[in-house]
Amino acid sequence: MSQVFPFTDPVAAETLPPLRIVGGNGIKVIDVRGKDYIDAVSALWCSPLGFNHPRLADAAQRQMQTLNYYHSFMGRTPNVTEKLARRLVQKLPSPISHVLFGTSGSEAVETAVKLVRYYQNSRGKSEKMRIVSREGGYHGSGQMSAALTGMGYCHDAFGVPLHDVLRVGRPHYLCDAQPGETEVAFVKRLGRELDETIRDAGPETVGGFIGEPIMGSGGVILPPNGYWEEIQNVLSKHDVLLIADEIITGFGRTGVWFACELFGIQPDLLTMAKQMTAAVFPMSAVALSEKVYAKVATQAHQFGTFGHGVTYGGHPVGAAVAMECLDIYEDMCLPNHVTNLGAYMGKGLALFDNMPCVAQVRREGMLSAVEFADCLGSDFATRVTEEARERGVFFRNIGNILAIAPPYICTQEDIDAIFDVLLKSVDAVLAETERHHELA
Ligand code: PLP
Repeated sequence: MSQVFPFTDPVAAETLPPLRIVGGNGIKVIDVRGKDYIDAVSALWCSPLGFNHPRLADAAQRQMQTLNYYHSFMGRTPNVTEKLARRLVQKLPSPISHVLFGTSGSEAVETAVKLVRYYQNSRGKSEKMRIVSREGGYHGSGQMSAALTGMGYCHDAFGVPLHDVLRVGRPHYLCDAQPGETEVAFVKRLGRELDETIRDAGPETVGGFIGEPIMGSGGVILPPNGYWEEIQNVLSKHDVLLIADEIITGFGRTGVWFACELFGIQPDLLTMAKQMTAAVFPMSAVALSEKVYAKVATQAHQFGTFGHGVTYGGHPVGAAVAMECLDIYEDMCLPNHVTNLGAYMGKGLALFDNMPCVAQVRREGMLSAVEFADCLGSDFATRVTEEARERGVFFRNIGNILAIAPPYICTQEDIDAIFDVLLKSVDAVLAETERHHELA
C-alpha cells in the first residue's frame, strides 16, 4: 500500500484494502466492482449536490478555459474571486464584513487563530494568545486546528501545541448532565465552567473561543436552549473573541444559510469550507467582522503589508464553482428546501424515537443523528454502519452515534430508501446481538 490513509489504522489497512470508489451518480458513488452506495452523510458532510453535478463540471470547465489560475496577492485578484467575496458577505451573518480565502477547513481555522492573535496584538494585548475549545469539537488537522480539536487521537504523539489551548465541556445534555440537573441548570454550569476556566488562566491570556454552532464530528450535538447566549455573555465579559466554525453547518445544512442565525450567535470570525464549493474544489474562507477587520487592517497598514496568504487561496476555479453552488442553492430555494426535506427526514427518524435500543434522536435541518443506548455495547453503531454499507447506504458512526446528513439533492424516495436500510440494518444487528446472547 503506497498511500497513507487519514483516520485509518495503517497496519489494518495493509491487509484490509480500502473500498475503491471509481464513479459518482447523483447521490450515489460506485465502487470498483460496480456496486453503488447512497452516501447518507454527503461523504464528509461536504457533498450536498452529489458526486457528478453537471452544472458544477460546466462551471469549472468554463473557468479553466478562461483563467485557470491567478492569485490575490499584492494588489491583484481574479475578478470572479472578488465577486464571490462580495456575494458571501451579503449572505453571512451580521457583523461580518470581509472574507479571506484559503484551501481547506483546517487552514481556515489556522488562519482564524492567527487573526485572533493579530487582533489582540494590534490592541497591545500581546498576552491574549490562548484559545478555548470544547471536548468533542472537531476543528481540523493542522497544528493549532488539531490542538483545538477535542479528540485525543488527534493529539497523541503529534506534539501539537496543547499549551495554547484551554478546554471546556461540550453541551451534550443527554450524556453530560449531572443526575437531576435541568437543561437550564446544565447551561448555567457550562457558562460557569467557561468563566472559571478563563479566570483561572487569567483573562489577560485568553484571546479567543472556537465552537461549531452544532457539533458535527463530535456526534451532531445540538446545544440546549440558551447555551450560546450564556457562552457569548461570558466571552464578552472577558473580552474574548468568538470564532464560529461553520465548516459543516454553513450553506444551509441546518435549514438557515449559517447556523449562527439559529442561536443568535454574533461571530467575530467565522470559518467555512465544504459546502461552499460542494467539495468539488478545495476551497475555504475565514469571514471577519468589521471590528476585527478594522484592527487587522490598521495594524497591517503600519507594517506596510498583511503578511499572510497562500498560493491557491481564492483560486478562480474554486470561486467559479462556489458562485455556481450559490446559484444552485438559490435555484433550489435554500434554505426552505432543507427545512422541508429535513422535516421529511424527521418522519423517518421518528421510527427510531421510541425504540428501546435508541437513547436519543436529534435533527436540525438535514443534519441528524441517532444515538444508541450504551447497554448494546460500544460497537453497536459500527456494526449498524457496516450492515448498512452491505445494503448499499453509507452512514457514519461516532462511537454509538450514527450520523445522517444526506445531500440536498435527495428526493423523498431517496430519504425513504435511506431510512428503510437503516431500519433493516438496526433490526439485523439487534437480532445478531440477541443470538449471540442466547449462545453465551
Ligand atoms: N472544522 C470543522 C467543523 C470540520 O468539520 C472540519 C472537517 O471535517 C474541519 C474544521 C477541517 O476541515 P478540513 O478537513 O477541510 O481541513
